[in-house]
Amino acid sequence: MSTNAQFKKQANGLAQEYLIIDSHQDLPWRLGKKMEDISKRTEGGDFDYPRAKQGGLNAVFLAAYVPAKYEEEGGAKTKAAEAIDLIKGLAETWPDKFVPAGSVADVKEQFGGGRISLAMGMENGSPLEGELDNLKYFYGRGIRYITLAHSNNNHICDSSFDDKPKWNGLSPFGRKVIGEMNRLGMMIDVSHITDKTFYQIMELSKAPVVATHSSCRHFTPGWERNMSDEMIKLLAKKGGVIQISFGNMFVNEQVNKESAERRKLMNEFIRANDLQGERKERYIDEYVKAHPLGDADISDVVANIDHAVQLVGIDYVGLGSDFDGVGDNLPNGLKDVSCYPNLICELIKKGYTAEDIKKICSDNFLRVWSEVERAAIELQSSR
Ligand SMILES: [Zn+2]
Repeated sequence: MSTNAQFKKQANGLAQEYLIIDSHQDLPWRLGKKMEDISKRTEGGDFDYPRAKQGGLNAVFLAAYVPAKYEEEGGAKTKAAEAIDLIKGLAETWPDKFVPAGSVADVKEQFGGGRISLAMGMENGSPLEGELDNLKYFYGRGIRYITLAHSNNNHICDSSFDDKPKWNGLSPFGRKVIGEMNRLGMMIDVSHITDKTFYQIMELSKAPVVATHSSCRHFTPGWERNMSDEMIKLLAKKGGVIQISFGNMFVNEQVNKESAERRKLMNEFIRANDLQGERKERYIDEYVKAHPLGDADISDVVANIDHAVQLVGIDYVGLGSDFDGVGDNLPNGLKDVSCYPNLICELIKKGYTAEDIKKICSDNFLRVWSEVERAAIELQSSR
């Protein structure tokens, strides 16, 4: 057997042997647009049961994503509740394939049983609608992390994608949200927010936090959506974890530049022609199709993982693919949930040990989740 074939065999073995958890996938958004039978291999999309099994995926956080526009229009809580219903429906429809997971214990107990654990995160805090009680409601429905903002500032904090900050970090309500999330045992997701928001959370949070789908700004200079070296260091110092996102524009400088340029041109046209609502969405759809971005490679993702490891060590890095959230803009070799073994193979080639790989696949993330659970018990009993 050639060395390459040996690496591949070893990688496949590890992918099946170790618990793999992916902290961010947008399958609910995809299925909300067009429901498919994901118990079988689907034509398009990045996730289905057969491919997930092939890739060794055991647990995944599905995003109950609510677009930023509902912050203004209203109805965000209803939208989130619908997304949660959709996710819960997956395990109800295919109970031999999927099983809900609401704790580290669930994920560990269900590991090895053949079914994929479905945990839930909420992407965008708009559904809280200014009520701390809604945090309890969403926790009760199974949400275990909240990505505080998405593409625009909201009533909780500032978004890295918005033109200018509204709060210079967290709003007064957002500060209360942090405390209440700690108390409930909900993970705080620092992906998508501004640097200022991140640093304020690091001051306030009584538990470690997670970036569920972010990569290293080192490779995408100036792009606030990814984490700077300084931020990664602080995140790790406080026991958190960065879950590296796979999208081409997250991991490759050239694609990131192309994407920024494309967004700038689109925004100029949208503003000049005052496009809104459906016209705006149709324009963006068509423009994006007509102007595809360049390719990235699995080696770009490995470089991001390795950069974070070189910065802070092996204990603070994991996987948050963003599958079904970035269209076709995924690296060669890492196109869907069947591809985790390819990534493991590249890490082996780079000299990562089996123990290192186990940490990246799930141990690091589960440690943070456990810490958040433990901190909540402490905070609740100290009242
Ligand atoms: Zn996202």
